[in-house]
Amino acid sequence: MSRLEIDQERCTGHGRCYSLAPSLFDSDEFGHAVLVPTHEINETDAWTAVQNCPEGAISFEP
Ligand code: SF4
Repeated sequence: MSRLEIDQERCTGHGRCYSLAPSLFDSDEFGHAVLVPTHEINETDAWTAVQNCPEGAISFEP
């Protein structure tokens, strides 16, 4: 089972993850990232988010 996580301590709310991969990420009222509940993680989107988070706050284990 793959695992996608956001380290909320690191997230500073740049919004790249939910701009680039809105199927997996959304923002809370402060602009910080939250996961969209889903049973199927699109791996391409997950890696895109990992690679584009400037804070290294997103981790993915396929
Ligand atoms: S790209 Fe990274 S820092 Fe920006 S909102 Fe997403 S998790 Fe947070």
